[in-house]
Amino acid sequence: MDLSLVIPIYNEAENIPLLINAITKSLNNTNLVYEIICVDDGSQDGSTEVLKNILMTTSCLKAIVLRRNYGQTPAMAAGFENARGNVIITLDGDLQNDPTDIPLLLQKLEEGYDLVSGWRKNRQDDALTRLLPSKIANWIIGKITGVKLHDYGCSLKAYRKELIADMNLYGELHRFLPALAYIEGAKITEIPVNHHPRRFGKSKYGLGRTFRVIMDLLTVFFIKKFLTRPMHVFGFFGLISMILGFFIGIYLSFLKLGLGRSIGDRPLLILCVLLILTGVQLFSFGLLGELLMRTYHESQKRPIYRIRDIYFNSGNQK
Ligand code: UDP
Ligand code: MG
Repeated sequence: MDLSLVIPIYNEAENIPLLINAITKSLNNTNLVYEIICVDDGSQDGSTEVLKNILMTTSCLKAIVLRRNYGQTPAMAAGFENARGNVIITLDGDLQNDPTDIPLLLQKLEEGYDLVSGWRKNRQDDALTRLLPSKIANWIIGKITGVKLHDYGCSLKAYRKELIADMNLYGELHRFLPALAYIEGAKITEIPVNHHPRRFGKSKYGLGRTFRVIMDLLTVFFIKKFLTRPMHVFGFFGLISMILGFFIGIYLSFLKLGLGRSIGDRPLLILCVLLILTGVQLFSFGLLGELLMRTYHESQKRPIYRIRDIYFNSGNQK
C-alpha cells in the first residue's frame, strides 16, 4: 500500500459521494495503490449510510464508524491507527480541500521531505471569524514552536507514516503535527493548495476553537520544553517576582527610614504586588494542572475514541 487518505466525517452526507469521486478521479491516473479511510465521527445525518452505499462499488474505501462524536483530532487518530499506507494524506470531508492537489504533495515528499503541509493561499472562509483569528494563531504558533508555516489549520497535509506512528494526540493537536514532528527531527515544507467554499453542510467550528487551539499549543510547548525541569519555568517567574518584591521593599524602607514618610497608605503599590504574586501563582497552578492532566491521560492509556464498526468493500462488517 502506497497511500492512505484519512478523512474525518461529521455530518457530511451530501459531500461524501462527490468527494470520493473527486479523489478516485485524481488518483486513478497515477499508478498508486491507495486506500480511502473515512472516519465517521458520530454523524447523525445519514453519512454512515452514504458511506456504506459507496462501499459497495468502491473497493479502496474503508469506513470506520466511531461510537459518538469525539472531534476532528480523535477521528483522525482513529484513521491513522488503521492506515496501512507508507504515506498518509489527511483532508477534510467537505470538499473544501481539492483532491487534485494530492499529487503535488506527494511530489514534495519524493523530494525528500517528511511532511508537506498545504497552504490555503486564497482561503474561502469568513474573514472576521476565521481568517483573522487563524492569522494571529499561525503567527503565535510559528513564534512558539519555531516552525513557521502560513497555515497550520489546513487539513490537507501529507506525512510519512513513521512520523505519526507514535504521536499521542488529544484536543486540537492534529494541526500541530508539523511542530511535533519537527521536534522529532522531521523535514517540513509547505505548498500553496486550492481551497473552495463549503457547498453543503455547515462548518463545525467557530471562534471558540481558536482559543482551544492556542491553549493546546501552550500546553504542548511547555510540556516539551519544561517537562523534565518544571523548576526552570516556575523558578524563573518566582525569582522575578521575588526581585520585584525586594525592590519595592527597598523603596518602601527608603521612604520610611530615609525620608521618614508614612508607607501605610499606598493601595496602588499593594495592588501591584498582589497582582504580580497571584498572577504568578495562577500561572504556575494552571501549568501544573495541565501537566497533571497530561500525566493522567497518559497513565490511563485510555483511547481518545472508540470504534463501533469498521466496514470494508462489499458491505461486510469486520
Ligand atoms: N469534523 C469531525 N468531527 C467534528 C468536527 C468536524 O470529524 O467534531 C470533520 C468535518 O466533517 C470536516 C473536518 O472535520 O471533514 C473539518 O471540519 P469543518 O469543515 O467544519 O471545519 P472548517 O473547514 O470550517 O475549519
Ligand atoms: Mg471545512
